[in-house]
Amino acid sequence: MKKFLILSVVLVGLVTLLLVRGHTQFPDRQLHGVEPLPQTPVDAEAMAQRLAGAIRIPTIAHDDRSNFDEAAFLDFHRYLEQHYPLIHAAATREVINGYSLVYRIDGHNAELKPALFMGHIDVVPVDPATIDEWIHGPFSGAIDQGIVWGRGAVDDKLTVMALMEAMELMLAAGEKPQRTVYFSFGHDEEVGGKDGAGHVAEHFKAQGISFEFVLDEGGAVTQGLVAGVEAPVAMIGIAEKGYMNLHLTVNASGGHSSQPPPHTAAGILAAAIVKVEDNPFPADLSALEPNFYYMGHYFPYSTRVALANTWLLSPLVEQVLLASRTAAPSIRTTTAVTMLEGSSKSNILPTRATAVVNFRILPGDSVAGVKQHIVDAIDDERVEVTVHMANEPSPVSSTESFGYKLLERTIRGSDGEVLVTPYLVQGGTDAKHFVDLSDSVYRFMMFRVNPMTAKRVHGVNEQVSVDHYVEAVRFYHALLSNLGDSPAS
Ligand SMILES: [Zn+2]
Repeated sequence: MKKFLILSVVLVGLVTLLLVRGHTQFPDRQLHGVEPLPQTPVDAEAMAQRLAGAIRIPTIAHDDRSNFDEAAFLDFHRYLEQHYPLIHAAATREVINGYSLVYRIDGHNAELKPALFMGHIDVVPVDPATIDEWIHGPFSGAIDQGIVWGRGAVDDKLTVMALMEAMELMLAAGEKPQRTVYFSFGHDEEVGGKDGAGHVAEHFKAQGISFEFVLDEGGAVTQGLVAGVEAPVAMIGIAEKGYMNLHLTVNASGGHSSQPPPHTAAGILAAAIVKVEDNPFPADLSALEPNFYYMGHYFPYSTRVALANTWLLSPLVEQVLLASRTAAPSIRTTTAVTMLEGSSKSNILPTRATAVVNFRILPGDSVAGVKQHIVDAIDDERVEVTVHMANEPSPVSSTESFGYKLLERTIRGSDGEVLVTPYLVQGGTDAKHFVDLSDSVYRFMMFRVNPMTAKRVHGVNEQVSVDHYVEAVRFYHALLSNLGDSPAS
């Protein structure tokens, strides 16, 4: 009886502790008392027309670079020149590697480190099979009932054009930024960014230029994407995952399929693939910690209890997150077997069988570490494992920096209902080329997205409302107007 009593007291105590921590561990860490942004008067209709005109220029990125449409990119350069005369009078403009653009607008204070704003000119192609599903043609640049339509309306001509509008507004008012500002608009982000942003980064390095902060596309203002949170959430990417393709190769002597060995090259490869899939990378909640820190207060109570007590409940939390295809990539290096090749004929034994496995590497893991994990998992010397295309995960930028605080304050000033959180970008952006040029690299664009509209980016009926476009211009205008030396908080 006494033992039972003691056990009950301990249990009640433990449960109480868990529940109390759910209440106390997550104070409200959103920034409050931010002045709303000034509603700078703008000609929304003219701005929308200029965005629509930019969409009509088909600056398409093709995997096969021989399809590259040089004329479209040069047209786009001229288009900017024509529509933003003040920038072109005030800025130094350089064309990098033929098609990428770099603008430098000198600020008041040359002592301050410059800020870099990035975007990309290229857009993904339109799948011919879906062309009939577009309500307005993908390169029509139609404006219909307050909506601008077409490929690039979001990704990423929205960024490029909104930045140009914002700077032109500033110059028209006779102002200039407090620190020097660079714009970098790459021309091949959608096919890896090597020729565009990659060259721009080299160009900056060669001149010894580094940045107070870098802002590229990536996160957005999401609605309904964070489980249990109804308010819109602005997600600022503070890191991005690494990327790697491993090729698994098995060589064999081949021959006729009527006299096969017990295991062909294809069979040995298949066994290796099973082992790869059966040995996923371990989950690591630490990549989500900054997100819990800023958002925890707004999570449902049950979620808070779990997250406040990961010292006890982390296996449970991990299990829940790993069960979700959208959440799992935030807490582990992902493994995806994508391409397979064996014999070219049904009655010939393969002399060589290959598989390609694509990994998205979590910060904290590395290219070498992931390869070793796979070699150990396969544990078969007949399977050769080689690295093809790899880049390490990015460093994680601080949420205490000038750049982050400026973004946080400007977003809250843009709309006080929007919650702001840092997060890990699951895909890749051009920003990865710039991690040596600044320790504050952020990925965010002022764009509103929900689970349904997210599919339009790279999909069918890409569009932005004129209201949201104006919101983006005002957002960049506010950023450019607050680049002084005192942290913005
Ligand atoms: Zn993009």
